[in-house]
Amino acid sequence: MTPPAHLPPEAYHRLLEISRALAATLDLDPLLTQIVHAAADLSDAEAASILLYDPQSRELHFQTATNLTNGLKKGTAVPLDHSIAGLALKRKTPIRRVNVRQDADHYGRLDEITHVQTRTLIAVPLIANGQPVGVLEAINKREGAFTDADEEILTALAAHAAVAIQNARLFQQSDLIAELVHEIRTPLGAILAASQLLRMPQISEEQRQRTIETIEQQARYLNELTTTFLDMARLESGRVRFERNRIDVGALLQEVARMFAAEAQKRGIQMEINIPENLQPLVADRAKIKQVLINLVSNALKYNRPHGKVRLAAYHEDGHISITVSDTGPGIAPQHLKHLFGKFYRVPGSEKQARGTGLGLYICKRIVEAHRGEMRVKSTLGQGTTFIVTLPLREEDEQP
Ligand code: ADP
Repeated sequence: MTPPAHLPPEAYHRLLEISRALAATLDLDPLLTQIVHAAADLSDAEAASILLYDPQSRELHFQTATNLTNGLKKGTAVPLDHSIAGLALKRKTPIRRVNVRQDADHYGRLDEITHVQTRTLIAVPLIANGQPVGVLEAINKREGAFTDADEEILTALAAHAAVAIQNARLFQQSDLIAELVHEIRTPLGAILAASQLLRMPQISEEQRQRTIETIEQQARYLNELTTTFLDMARLESGRVRFERNRIDVGALLQEVARMFAAEAQKRGIQMEINIPENLQPLVADRAKIKQVLINLVSNALKYNRPHGKVRLAAYHEDGHISITVSDTGPGIAPQHLKHLFGKFYRVPGSEKQARGTGLGLYICKRIVEAHRGEMRVKSTLGQGTTFIVTLPLREEDEQP
């Protein structure tokens, strides 16, 4: 790397050190966190953030910020055409501004959301192999305005960061593809074997019906599998947009319970719902929260005992709504609980109980956290498991 002209040697060394660390990180979220902290540090800024570019919607989405607390939600969209970040990406050149609040290009909605008054700003495009990846922004120089040296060091950092982000994404995809191929093999093999069986003239009508059922079951499983993987790839790419719907939690729980009524009956499992009368509506993405509940109820049935129980409940808890899904299954040993929400994690032995990928809970957690909620689990061996989804009731800036 050629030392940039205006940089003091210590800043250059720091940059080298950070670039090396970035090249070694293949996990996207920690990588982005490292980049924003390095950017704020190197340019002496109050905050820094990364927005990733979504070529489909032609929008930038907030991914990480050093101040991702005050209302700035991961995934918040910033239009390419009405923001300084967008301008930097379109022009493929850094943009430095003072008096940002009076700037016609500034996307003022962000200041409203974050309650941070942007005074000075520098936006540097992230471009890897000619492809737009996103924008790195540093906000509010601690003293004075951003300088040529800041622009140089952030440009150098952005060049390394863009390649590291692209590598991490490719790595994530290849990891995912390898897993998907692995998971698809068994059901595909079963479908092939069943089709060959159907060609045999000597099979009985009963065998024929059973074989067709097998094909249907396996195809349905393949369908579920591809949807799960697609959901995960979307969530990880940061391209998922969350809607804000006013949700009647009681009605939603009833709806989900109805979906599983036949399955529960088949297993002799009793389902009950407990909801207080005065439950306030929740503001969240209804379809995604429903997806979380479907997953939890499906697990509560899959990992239950015959003639067991599944209980759905909801209650208020200081500004939050908690939804619980409890079962009377075998429970989960304490040493497995901390891994449960990890990608592809299955408790050893559960493959004997039910088919699964170990992705469901990981996806649930990501959806709940994108709503600034929390997912927890409590379990007692031999008695059962309870999953608790806690969601903020309503955010100030999120009136429906
Ligand atoms: P999947 O069910 O597809 O394997 P999940 O991510 O939904 O994936 O769950 C991960 C693992 O957690 C399961 O494989 C199982 O070992 C365990 N698990 C989930 N829910 C329960 C439950 N209600 N009771 C016992 N174990 C559970």
